[in-house]
Amino acid sequence: MFRFRRQVYLDNNATTPIHPRVRHRMCKVLARVYGNPSSLYRIARNAAEILEDSRRTVATAVGAEPEEIIFTGSASEANNQALKSLLSLSSERTTVISTPIEHPSVMETLAYLEAQGLRVVFCPVDRYGRIQMQALEQLVGEDTLALCCMAANNEIGAVQDIPAVVALAQRHGALVISDCVQALGKIPLDVKRLGVDYAVFSAHKIQGPKGVGALYVREGAPLTPLIHGGHQEGGLRAGTEGLHNIAGFAVACARVERLLAASEGMRNLQRRLEEGIREILPAVQINSPPKDGLPNTLNVTFPGFDNAAMLAFLDYQGIGVSAGSACNTHANTPSHVLKAIGLNEEEARQTLRFSLCAETSRRQIDYALKALRDFLLQRKLPVLMVSPRQLDETMLYNENLFIVDIRHGYDRKLLEGLPNSHEAKSVFLKKYLRAIPKDKDILVVCQGGTDGPVAAYYLRSKGYRRVSFVMGGVIGWKLFQPELYRKLAGRNVSQLQEA
Ligand code: PLP
Repeated sequence: MFRFRRQVYLDNNATTPIHPRVRHRMCKVLARVYGNPSSLYRIARNAAEILEDSRRTVATAVGAEPEEIIFTGSASEANNQALKSLLSLSSERTTVISTPIEHPSVMETLAYLEAQGLRVVFCPVDRYGRIQMQALEQLVGEDTLALCCMAANNEIGAVQDIPAVVALAQRHGALVISDCVQALGKIPLDVKRLGVDYAVFSAHKIQGPKGVGALYVREGAPLTPLIHGGHQEGGLRAGTEGLHNIAGFAVACARVERLLAASEGMRNLQRRLEEGIREILPAVQINSPPKDGLPNTLNVTFPGFDNAAMLAFLDYQGIGVSAGSACNTHANTPSHVLKAIGLNEEEARQTLRFSLCAETSRRQIDYALKALRDFLLQRKLPVLMVSPRQLDETMLYNENLFIVDIRHGYDRKLLEGLPNSHEAKSVFLKKYLRAIPKDKDILVVCQGGTDGPVAAYYLRSKGYRRVSFVMGGVIGWKLFQPELYRKLAGRNVSQLQEA
């Protein structure tokens, strides 16, 4: 959207930039190896060889045997498969115990298991997301079918004591599934030492390609296919393998030791960021564990500062951070992880996650700190926030004000817009620049307050001098001005003409 002066990527828990060696290998495979790994003639044999070599490399990186690795289309798929497979175990045991801070691909699959008749119980976590072992001991019993506990959390960086979880599960004869997506490459990891029955990995979190994951299944552990219709992956995952992705995943896995070697430097930079933020705003609340968390993840609550506005300002400065996990950033719902560690909705909406990678430099951290200082000390803010309480009749009918409504069509069906607003039908504001006057004050409004700031900064970057956005969007206005909403919403709304 913007032309960046500089780019600083601090959202590596969402995804990582692909490593040049990975890209090189993938391009080579794409260019030269087109055979189907399942075909029997010589042209395809190379493909089968690459597939099995890659399986060996991935297995070595996680401490497994090659036969224990199944390639999947993503870690989300692998989580689904391991969990849904529990349904086909004919067992007296009916309870699955998990934590309330798992990835959505686990949380939503657990809800599915519950709908299918299993009992799902969540073990509480402490203020920093660490599983409370005493509570877990109380919960595990002879009816426990499986424990599902992530090795490391993507939002706050909590690292769980998986060997302790496994020891407890084994005493009661329960299986253990562990989502190890965020742990791989950041902390030493060996599935045999952990003792888990199933472990889940994703290539794109370790500088590999998107769209490929792996499921470790301990030899002898039961598993049923999720995708039917082919004999691939030992009959456990139908579908022709995405060989270039798998080969790229293997190259990324071969670099895991190097990633681990960089983790101390990353931890130092994370500390520098944390100390810098504390210096700017001593009232901040750090939600990442003070000790023994992931070396790259810093989750911070900035009391009094809306994360959507912060995110947009940082974006404007070329800095990418996250206001939650990438999977729920558009939902504008406070993250379930932050809720589980005790943050209320307001605190969750004042929270940002910074996640570093091996390539993050000190200069980048200092640049991010400078931008945060400008925002938090309200220096050089190129766009303004308007509270929904300020949006009264005088303001809404001010002739100098031009209101741009950037809501999606389905949002408009749910709520009427601000009076006198001009609707942009497409998300590409570029199309409307001719229709938005340069000599007026521009007020951008979205549905819930997340998209407005980004659009406001975009307009500012296009030469609009006085741009503001509505905090909390139309939802906020309706909430704080219900009378006015009833009286004026939807009046005199027009559509912006595309250029
Ligand atoms: N599990 C965790 C902890 C994650 O952070 C993610 C990605 O955000 C996933 C699972 C899903 O990975 P994928 O994008 O490969 O489906």
